[in-house]
Amino acid sequence: MLNFKNYTLKELKKLVVDMELEPYRANQLAYWLYKNPVDSFMDMTNLPKSLRDEFEKSCQLFSLNISDVLQSLDGTKKVLFETDEGDYVESVLIPDGERLTLCVSTQIGCRMGCRFCLTGHQKFKRNLTPAEIVDQVILAQRIGDSRITNIVVMGMGEPLDNYHNVVKALSLITHPDALGYSYRKVTLSTVGLIPELKDLITKGPKVTLSYSLNAPNPEKRRSIMPIENRHPMMEVLRLLAEKTKHWRKPPTFEYVLLRGFNDSVGDAKELARLLKKLRCKVNLIPFNPWEGCPFERPEEKRVLAFQEVLIEAGFSTFIRKSRGQDILAACGQLRWRYKM
Ligand code: SF4
Repeated sequence: MLNFKNYTLKELKKLVVDMELEPYRANQLAYWLYKNPVDSFMDMTNLPKSLRDEFEKSCQLFSLNISDVLQSLDGTKKVLFETDEGDYVESVLIPDGERLTLCVSTQIGCRMGCRFCLTGHQKFKRNLTPAEIVDQVILAQRIGDSRITNIVVMGMGEPLDNYHNVVKALSLITHPDALGYSYRKVTLSTVGLIPELKDLITKGPKVTLSYSLNAPNPEKRRSIMPIENRHPMMEVLRLLAEKTKHWRKPPTFEYVLLRGFNDSVGDAKELARLLKKLRCKVNLIPFNPWEGCPFERPEEKRVLAFQEVLIEAGFSTFIRKSRGQDILAACGQLRWRYKM
């Protein structure tokens, strides 16, 4: 079934003309799809009745349904969306003072197999469509207590492994006539698929980049992230150093701290040496355990000692608060399910 949210606004204009409609119908549609989302084509009151009837019969308005909302004790909400085929994808709404951040998914499952991630332990099923990515934002907004201020593309899946759909979705999320989020408020996290990363940096929307590094050297990274064999971190770091040095918002490096594996002061010193020529921010993420996982969360004093080394070396370094652990909504704890 035709879903207009699978088209960028430029493509929507062309589609409307191909349908032999007046070009301004594309603007009217965009208004009802993104600015003031309605539940039925019949509610698009400035479209002729005959057109609304036709769209109602032949087009899909929403690609996902909200199936369940789990609320954590800390206010975080995990939203379970059901796809047309009965699979589930998860998004997470994280309130923090004035901010309300939505973490969106881009795939059902993930092919990257990071050993510390629950999603990575599940089978990959398929890429999400642009409509399914954008609908997570539109529908989650309905259950958020305030306007979503920030979007992080860090949920289930590797965004650059679904490159074209993700770029289309980002264009809809940031276009002033669609969802209208500023680039500064949108962050994409990646394990660093080099050709797609190059393309995104040079031609794609200028969203904030976050690189999932997680180790101070290639050997350690390879043992927890199989992607290191195909897309080496040293090459990604060179690319980021070269292409993002004049960016207003430098990339962030994410580092999941795994007890006894990559969380020692020695690891921190090695990381500081590795990153010394890069303009970057470091986000430390103490591991969030899940049933059957092979790793443990480090003690707080080790996390603080790790942070101190990086701060002393001059890096802006933050420890990410674990949010929504009681509902398995924290980093690395998302998974997909299907109807039984
Ligand atoms: S951390 Fe991200 S890229 Fe790695 S397996 Fe999990 S979802 Fe995939």
